[in-house]
Amino acid sequence: MAHVVIVGAGVVGCATAWALVRAGHTVALVDRHAGPCRGASMRNGAQLSYAYADALATPGLLAQLPRILAGRDPAFRLRLQADPEFLVWALRFFANMRPSAFRDNTARLTRMAARTQALMPEIVADLDLVFDHAASGKMILHADERSLAKARENVALKSSLGMRLEVLDRAKANAIEPALAHYRDPIAGVVYSPADAVGRPSAFCEGVVRELTKRGKLEKRFGCEATGLVRRAGRAVGALLNGGAPATGDAVVVATGYGLSRRGPFAPPFSAVWPVQGYSATFPATAQAMACSITDIKRKLVFARLGDKVRIAGIADIGRRDFAFVPERFDALLAGARAAFGAGFDHTFEDIEPWSEARPCTPSSSPLIGPTAIPGLWRNLGHGTLGWTLCLSSAEMLVEEMQAQLR
Ligand SMILES: Cc1cc2nc3c(=O)[nH]c(=O)nc-3n(C[C@H](O)[C@H](O)[C@H](O)COP(=O)(O)OP(=O)(O)OC[C@H]3O[C@@H](n4cnc5c(N)ncnc54)[C@H](O)[C@@H]3O)c2cc1C
Repeated sequence: MAHVVIVGAGVVGCATAWALVRAGHTVALVDRHAGPCRGASMRNGAQLSYAYADALATPGLLAQLPRILAGRDPAFRLRLQADPEFLVWALRFFANMRPSAFRDNTARLTRMAARTQALMPEIVADLDLVFDHAASGKMILHADERSLAKARENVALKSSLGMRLEVLDRAKANAIEPALAHYRDPIAGVVYSPADAVGRPSAFCEGVVRELTKRGKLEKRFGCEATGLVRRAGRAVGALLNGGAPATGDAVVVATGYGLSRRGPFAPPFSAVWPVQGYSATFPATAQAMACSITDIKRKLVFARLGDKVRIAGIADIGRRDFAFVPERFDALLAGARAAFGAGFDHTFEDIEPWSEARPCTPSSSPLIGPTAIPGLWRNLGHGTLGWTLCLSSAEMLVEEMQAQLR
């Protein structure tokens, strides 16, 4: 049995903690925040998007690039920066928009998503987790035939990988999700994935930490920033903490998302990950709220039902690293939701919980999972738009690799 220090207590760090404990080890979980899930995972779109684990760099995005660069797309902004790290990342991101790269990336992510889907019932039962988890299905709305034709190719790819998806006309989709009756625009067709799920990542992470602590398998080191490595005989065995004694063990996992600093052992490699800022709003559900998750492709918005709340999420702003909450961008999210469902949706947007964070995006959307150049130091980060959907699979993949060295 080994003791592993995990730096970062978002969904990825918490899933890694469970995977290590499941494999017979104990963990110390470090985060600069006072509790788990306060970074990019906190109030994300909540989608366990098993059948829609598409790479962010799509061929369609390439065609929209002039509009995006001109700042005319309300949901997507790309501000080029005179920063070598950003420029290298952006060139690699553009290269991943090729149709063949998109297909390969999406197939890889879909296989990972399927693995999370298979593991989810196990962790829920093992730790008795309650997090508004529901397999309520997902509908992706396509406004025109062109968009739907592209979607059909994607459905064929996903079906070949074992995912359950069907294309519905509006009437059939309305019969499954009555809230669609309030959608204001034309719908050419709907891609429906009945097994897709939702859940609140914050309640999930709190449950994982609580249960593993209760079992004596997890040592909480919250409110501490990891500032350097503890090494023994050239191997990483722990982290120096600003705010407490070092956390030491037999190995270290870096699960820091886009990373607080750009350099050092707890940062992603040069130009491998760039933060892509997004927003969410959570508010009480009315009687007319959707039960199923809805993705509005035209507006790049997702709507999720989480118990007695509805969450909308979207906006992808790429450029600055020192992002902050921009009220106009949050308003653009709300305006998109109102334009989609109008007054018929009947949300007053009272009691809104506004939120913004950044997705830790790699150019290919595939996370970095595995060893680093420093013996004993491992990495599990860069999950982009899909960290919640991929967290259990990436944790299991990492632990499979680590096992041989942890005995
Ligand atoms: C608006 C929005 C909507 C999204 N919607 C979805 C969705 O619907 N479905 C989905 O699958 N994904 C979604 N995502 C993506 C998903 O939330 C991310 O991929 C995921 O949160 C990444 O998890 P993480 O654990 O790697 O990072 P984080 O949750 O950011 O965790 C990293 C942690 O590391 C800590 N840390 C960093 N450096 C240090 C240090 N040196 N010392 C101590 N602590 C440190 C940070 O404090 C942080 O808590 C969305 C993201 C956003 C922003």
